[in-house]
Amino acid sequence: MRRCVILISGLVQGVGFRPFLYNLAREKGLTGWVRNNFAGVELEIQGKQKVVAVFIAELRLKAPSTAVIDEITVTDIPLIKESGFTILESEPGRLAGSPLPDQGICDACISEFHDPEDRRYQYPFNGCTICGPRFTIIEGLPFDRERTSMNEFILCPYCFQEYLSPDNRRFHAQTVTCPECGPQFWFTTPDGKELRVEPGQTAREVLKTGGIIAIKGIGGYHLACDAFNDESVSRIRRLKGRDNRAFAVMFKDMALIKENCQVSALEEGILTAFSRPIVLLKQEIDSQLAKSVNPNLREIGAFLPYSGIHLSLFDERLTALVMTSGNRSEEPLIIDDRAALKILGPMVDGFLGHNRRILWRCDDSVVRVQKNNVIGIRRSRGYVPSPVKVNQKLTPLLACGAGQKNTFALTKGKMIYMSQHQGDLDNLASFTAYKENIEYFKNLLDCKPQWAVHDLHPDYPSTVYAVQSGLKTIGVQHHLAHLAGAIAVHSITGPVIGVIFDGSGYGADYRIWGGEFFAGEGCMWQRVGHLKYYPLPGGEAAIKEPWRMGAVYLRNSSLHGPVEEWLHRFNLTHKWEQLCTAIKMGINSPETSSMGRLFDGIAALLGGNIEVSYEGEAAIWLENQADPSAKGIYDYRIDSQDGVFQIDPRDIAIQVFRDRDLIDVGAISMKFHRTVAAFITEMVTKIQAVSDIRQVVLSGGVFQNRLLLDLTWDSLTKKGFQVFVPEIVPVNDGGISLGQAWLGDLMIERGVTDVFGGSR
Ligand code: ZN
Ligand code: ZN
Ligand code: FE
Repeated sequence: MRRCVILISGLVQGVGFRPFLYNLAREKGLTGWVRNNFAGVELEIQGKQKVVAVFIAELRLKAPSTAVIDEITVTDIPLIKESGFTILESEPGRLAGSPLPDQGICDACISEFHDPEDRRYQYPFNGCTICGPRFTIIEGLPFDRERTSMNEFILCPYCFQEYLSPDNRRFHAQTVTCPECGPQFWFTTPDGKELRVEPGQTAREVLKTGGIIAIKGIGGYHLACDAFNDESVSRIRRLKGRDNRAFAVMFKDMALIKENCQVSALEEGILTAFSRPIVLLKQEIDSQLAKSVNPNLREIGAFLPYSGIHLSLFDERLTALVMTSGNRSEEPLIIDDRAALKILGPMVDGFLGHNRRILWRCDDSVVRVQKNNVIGIRRSRGYVPSPVKVNQKLTPLLACGAGQKNTFALTKGKMIYMSQHQGDLDNLASFTAYKENIEYFKNLLDCKPQWAVHDLHPDYPSTVYAVQSGLKTIGVQHHLAHLAGAIAVHSITGPVIGVIFDGSGYGADYRIWGGEFFAGEGCMWQRVGHLKYYPLPGGEAAIKEPWRMGAVYLRNSSLHGPVEEWLHRFNLTHKWEQLCTAIKMGINSPETSSMGRLFDGIAALLGGNIEVSYEGEAAIWLENQADPSAKGIYDYRIDSQDGVFQIDPRDIAIQVFRDRDLIDVGAISMKFHRTVAAFITEMVTKIQAVSDIRQVVLSGGVFQNRLLLDLTWDSLTKKGFQVFVPEIVPVNDGGISLGQAWLGDLMIERGVTDVFGGSR
């Protein structure tokens, strides 16, 4: 006989782990007990030596698919007298390490939803031990019903019976409900009057006639309309004050996605995974979705219903919905019913709502697949708060993140917990929510940071927050944070070359960086190359007016006449003269090495928008123009100045401008993309020649460009380099907090304040 205590840590609460162990132990005739504790799940078992060994082996093999086991420790203890196996109350008082992300509705629960014979037929809150909301309804740990917003709903005898039955799918399911005992579902008028109707059906009727409704879902409110109705989609865009960015589309099922988009096996796997993110897919040419869903783009952000609430929105004649976050553009997603009524009421023809409180705001996550890798764009619902585990034990710290697309992160042990998407902190409401969420997160995860790690940009609200936090502070350079994030995700060891391209980040030389090549490891780095500096005319305003960069690159070039003509055509001559004076006098014209701005400038020179509604719009336009069948490449020169490689964007801009009269935009765009991939590869090869580093990280918002990433990846791999991207952690500034946490920790640990400072 043998008795042992087994501790299982990881994402093991709220996934049906205790019921699984209960059934496994009973099946083997073992005695003992199981309970949730501070670290995960804890159990004691007793029985024949051999049987106990088999139990321990099967525990790993047969664990619930959504569980992520971090560590299992087994310790033998003295035998006791006992009979049977029981599930005990959770160990109170101490907080568990890892709350689970929200889980999309499982197949069994979907079947029940569609089965007229089932007790939970068309039940919007259907869920079980393995599916349903988790993070967005959690108040504290361990994950038990009384610490969720389901605590208001007392189980009916039916549900309670299921909860108690070991052979039931809902055995010990913490969020189990049914139409008898669960939350109320309703349809109201725009001013909040509840109608005595079948809510789902009424919502569908409104949507079919071109209406817009607000839907209270899992992580917040959505605004929805029929994605085939151009007028409705345009109306949502207008009402929200939304720029030209594409809307995401929720499809009835996988068959409908496949009718409208190309889907690979891996993409299908991600679309149907429990995280149910939005996946960016290539749109089929004959797809009839409204043009205003994704103006001038060939890509669709597609996702599937992830709860019964969403399933109730579809039928045979309503198969695809624009689902956009319920808020005014730039503001945080709304989760509060009264705020929804006030802000969304005037925009909609009705509300589909319920009385289960959403405790944590959580936007839909966005990913893309490329070369069989998941590329993160926004990491939120379905992923947060799963931690990233690293190899080192971390100093307790708060990584404050960047200014836009912000996430923050907290550390505990070897775990880095990234927050959900916080948005652009320049927006006051977002910044307020950011500060609140940091407090919530600290409480939920029981983190007590001693340090605040921040960006070097003094004006980022996140930096200001760090400085005022009362914690010890340390700054991490923006692009090194991008790089460090990828190192953390992949546990890369040894030296790395980092190619980090984005719009802008504060440089160690107080200039605006964004086209950077680094080499090094740990907290010893060198900036080995970058784009040559050019003035950013009018500072940040240039981001919304890409033509300014186009003009800057060609300033003082031999193309004086044609450039004049080009400026004149858009009525920009006078404005440009003023900007030139400002540049000469050094007024509001900071120098930048930004690759994002190079893409902007090239797009503008080719007839893309002279002004854009959001950063990156011009670059997206340029990528979409590219004709892959076009041949050719532009000349470029890599100079070396004080041992630092530089590429002059002017050389390339001049050739692009000349080509306008010779070949079409599609061919020019393709040549330009190919040129960038080529100089990255040559640069990396030059760096490798002097350093012998073969690991390359590609990150930064510019690599959201699918074509550029493809070309670069291919050509680097062909040269024998090993290429890394940050995977599900966003390549854009949403991934900054992770890198800050990783590198910040190392700097604190080793007492380093200047990572570019030389040998360490
Ligand atoms: Zn389920
Ligand atoms: Zn019930
Ligand atoms: Fe960035």
